[in-house]
Parts: sequence; structure tokens; C-alpha cells
Amino acid sequence: MNRKIPTDPQRSALMARVRQRETPAERTVGRLLRELGMGYRKNVRALRGSPDFANRSRYWAVFVHGCFWHQHPGCPRATIPTRNRAFWEAKFAANRDRDARATSALRRKGFRVVTVWECQVADAPAVKSRLSKLLKSGGVDVR
Ligand SMILES: [Zn+2]
Repeated sequence: MNRKIPTDPQRSALMARVRQRETPAERTVGRLLRELGMGYRKNVRALRGSPDFANRSRYWAVFVHGCFWHQHPGCPRATIPTRNRAFWEAKFAANRDRDARATSALRRKGFRVVTVWECQVADAPAVKSRLSKLLKSGGVDVR
């Protein structure tokens, strides 16, 4: 996409936060994986979509998605800015499309893939049991 990102102060602040190296949600997911004894590497560029956490020999990958940027379906945080709406809709559609293609490419290679949404991390025990079930036994992810 070669359209310029609109500059408005609120949005710039939001984007600055997004560029942080590690989000609080990612920190929590990393801690849960360590508690489960699941070794991982972070931001694995060798895999499609650069999963936030992955173990290539054990064939699992975890994406931690911000609800706004990745437009968590039905989530109150998944708002679309009213200013430059067409720009944001196109950007979000591209993000969603990229996410879906990364997940299916990894699954075709035999990876178990879990997507953890930022808002779900507030209930850490639920995320932990989902990671545990899914990554240890292999199964079908629930969004
Ligand atoms: Zn959400």
C-alpha cells in the first residue's frame, strides 16, 4: 500500500505505541508459555507472517494480535477511525488478509497455530489452558 498514513496526533501516538518492541499482551503470553515449559523463539521471520512465538521443531506458532490493528471480530476495541475511513478500511482488510494467509500457510506445513487477541490476555488462565491444550495435543483452534 503506497498511500500516505494520515497524520493526526492521536493516531500517531497510537502508532508509536504499536511500534514498541514488546506489547504487554506479548509479555504475558511469553510468561504463560514459559510456565507451560514450552520453549520458543520470538518474532520468527523464517516462518510465514513472522509469528510472535514459535517452536519450529515442535511445529507450533502463536500470534498475539492487537484488537485494533488486526480488527478482532466483534471486539469493542476493533473500531474504525471515522477520519480517513476508506484508508483504514483498506489497511485493516490488508492486515486481516495477511493474517489469514499466514495462518493457512503455516497449517499447510503442519504447524498448530494459535491466535491470541490482546483483549483475551486479561483472562490469563483461560489463555494458558488454551495454549496448553492446543499446542500439546494438537487440535483445532477456536478463535
Ligand atoms: Zn479483542
